[in-house]
Amino acid sequence: MSSKITRKKGQSGRAVGVQCVQCGKMVPRDKAVEKRKSVLPLDRRLRELLKKQGAYLSSGRSIVYYCVSCAKHRKYV
Ligand SMILES: [Zn+2]
Repeated sequence: MSSKITRKKGQSGRAVGVQCVQCGKMVPRDKAVEKRKSVLPLDRRLRELLKKQGAYLSSGRSIVYYCVSCAKHRKYV
């Protein structure tokens, strides 16, 4: 008996989906348009204080994804 463990679609193999922040559609990662956003939600002094206390702070950069149609609409492509 042979079990089907691997299932590859095309050459890309595993297609990781990301969600478009604009319309919420799931798009494959290689198709989605990646946008980097730099957000600093906290005050710098407050961030340093939190760091001293050992809290984990993200680097302040977040990556958002847009589907092709939304990216086109926003002229990202
Ligand atoms: Zn979209």
